[in-house]
Amino acid sequence: MPDADIIVAGAGMVGCYIAKKLSDRGYSVTLLEKSKAMKEDSGIVSKRFFRHVPKKFAMHRIDRMQFVSPSKKTFSLKGRTFAWVVSRHEVNSHLRKQCKENTSYERILSVNTGKNGAEVKTDENTYSCRLIVGCDGTFSTVRRQLGGKDPRIFFGMLTRTKMQKGSVQVHLNKHYSPDFFGWIIPQTGEWGIMSGTNAKEHFDYFGQKENLEKGEVHGYPIPMGLVQTSYERAMIVGEAAGQTKPLTGGGYVLGLECARHAIKTADLCMQQGNFGREFIVSSYDRWRMQFAGEIKLQLLARKIYRRMTNKQIDKIFDILGPHAERVEVKDYDLLSKTFMQMPKTAIIKAGLQAIF
Ligand SMILES: Cc1cc2nc3c(=O)[nH]c(=O)nc-3n(C[C@H](O)[C@H](O)[C@H](O)COP(=O)(O)OP(=O)(O)OC[C@H]3O[C@@H](n4cnc5c(N)ncnc54)[C@H](O)[C@@H]3O)c2cc1C
Repeated sequence: MPDADIIVAGAGMVGCYIAKKLSDRGYSVTLLEKSKAMKEDSGIVSKRFFRHVPKKFAMHRIDRMQFVSPSKKTFSLKGRTFAWVVSRHEVNSHLRKQCKENTSYERILSVNTGKNGAEVKTDENTYSCRLIVGCDGTFSTVRRQLGGKDPRIFFGMLTRTKMQKGSVQVHLNKHYSPDFFGWIIPQTGEWGIMSGTNAKEHFDYFGQKENLEKGEVHGYPIPMGLVQTSYERAMIVGEAAGQTKPLTGGGYVLGLECARHAIKTADLCMQQGNFGREFIVSSYDRWRMQFAGEIKLQLLARKIYRRMTNKQIDKIFDILGPHAERVEVKDYDLLSKTFMQMPKTAIIKAGLQAIF
């Protein structure tokens, strides 16, 4: 007899969510987590988040986001509450509490899968199971042990301090971040940057130039890009699977929405006793229909942005800024839809400006 039907690796938001739902369905689930500490992040989510987590965790509404160019030109994206700020710590604590009975604090060291079952070795035990769900974050041991490639890895750094009220700001400036942006969230007194290189230097420079005070500083990797997510007897979900939005780095909603596909697939595998890779792909990889197109578009936008200069960014603010002020953000997860509301001539002009 295996030690558990299903082993879930990693008690971040996605792992806890999956472990709870599968255990509610009557499966024996073991959730393995290496650390009692929990991550800090900005906690900005779209309304889809509340399909999975109670609305009581929403702390602030966002109906306006101001974009700031290198020479301080601005435009704002607006819409009827298109995002919320939730307390990441409270949500993860709530989810971890729900899985308390199933959780064991052990670090996963290796994973083996085969026709007859799967085996997970930790720093304390060896477990056998029928299915593994790897939700163990950016440097996922499960993904690497199964031979999966790493997605591209960026870094995010943030801090919180006292701040005057105002709207969320997104600073697009190559000196703050060559491939991403700096942000200020007055509602939570948070500021930070995301970058593919020298994150610490960019973070310090952003704070210095924008006169921002520093509290305790937190930094974490953020994965991006499409990787293999289905294997024989295993699925990879959340950050471990690169299920983040390349334009914002946000991963809650994608992770939880993809978790729904993983839960359904686990159920099918258990009911039909089929744990083959093809069978898992045919069900779990449906998450790609929902998000892969948007991820690809956002990756392309990010690739173009990486090659742009501050001068080009300023010019694009001139071209798109007035149109951006007039559109309404309807779907914070599918931002390309907001972009496509702008006149085609302006989009083409901005595209040419970005490329040449
Ligand atoms: C600075 C920053 C700001 C962000 N802001 C936002 C935001 O505003 N909105 C948003 O939607 N997303 C945001 N994100 C992204 C968000 O944090 C992630 O997408 C989300 O946490 C993914 O959850 P997860 O459960 O997949 O992974 P994680 O939360 O990373 O959980 C993985 C878990 O696996 C555990 N683990 C790892 N290795 C092992 C092992 N070998 N054995 C056992 N356990 C292991 C880890 O300890 C961890 O608990 C931000 C990220 C950063 C870095």
